Amino acid sequence: MEKEKRAVIGVDLGGTKIATGLLDPTGSLLARSQKATAGLRSSEEVIATIVETIKEVRGQRDIGGIGVASPGMVDSKNGIILNGVNLPDWDGISLQSELEERLGISVRLINDANAAAWGEYIYGAGRGSQSMVYVTLSTGIGSGLVLDGRLFLGTSSFAGELGHTVVDPHGALCGCGQRGCWETFASGTAIARIAHEAIAKSAAASQMNLLADEEGVPVSAKHVFQAAGKGDALAGEVLEQIIHYTGLGLMNIIHSFNPDCIVIGGGVSRAGAAFFEPLLKKTEELVMEPYRGTFAIKPAELKDDVGIIGAGALFVGHP
Ligand SMILES: [Zn+2]
Repeated sequence: MEKEKRAVIGVDLGGTKIATGLLDPTGSLLARSQKATAGLRSSEEVIATIVETIKEVRGQRDIGGIGVASPGMVDSKNGIILNGVNLPDWDGISLQSELEERLGISVRLINDANAAAWGEYIYGAGRGSQSMVYVTLSTGIGSGLVLDGRLFLGTSSFAGELGHTVVDPHGALCGCGQRGCWETFASGTAIARIAHEAIAKSAAASQMNLLADEEGVPVSAKHVFQAAGKGDALAGEVLEQIIHYTGLGLMNIIHSFNPDCIVIGGGVSRAGAAFFEPLLKKTEELVMEPYRGTFAIKPAELKDDVGIIGAGALFVGHP
């Protein structure tokens, strides 16, 4: 395919910044431009700023396409941002056609978790897999599905909100209005909450507090992993609980989609083997027998530029 030999552009649209990169066909970033969104007063100004970053990285090159990743709900079929980014006059904006009119280049618009999923599938930890589920464990839980080699978006391109599958109907209230969503048990925010609850109930001092106090910050997921690594008993109990709940969510994913690869991104994935080894063991225990040994659980490989790379990768392969 001729288009796959050309450079592509990825735009990662965030609440505070627009980050744009030029990618060669191997996924390497050749140029990058970033602009803050604070101070932009209208959708027209935001679009002009996006166009500016694109022109900066493009130079004189012939471009195969521009992918844009946006948080929140995105109508990928019609190229419309429905909501989710705190930008002026932004909800309902037809960003795909606005950019295509100004630039004369094909544009695709996608939710950021779906972009990350496709990026990891083409260039990251999911390379060579057939069906891959991407899960990011951060403030919330985001996810994206690549099924039989295709990015699966669903009827309204809202597929893959796996963080809002319920694992305990009597659990904590979730931002979505339900109780006990997976996100309330296994996101970075949830891990911190579970740690605080355990500390409040325990009479003994925990390394989790000491580590957090040294940094002058509240106990977070990172301190749970660090303290557990030092043999702290309470942190070990919290970690065991987190592994169990994370594994329950993965079990639901495996029973639903039968992936050969699950890629985990977000802050929690940086915990390394202390997280991934017990998580694989627990998930293998939880799934039904025929599923055992059919999947790998891997840390994400694309770091901070996953949004840019994933959005650009929409013009590589066949999402
Ligand atoms: Zn929810």
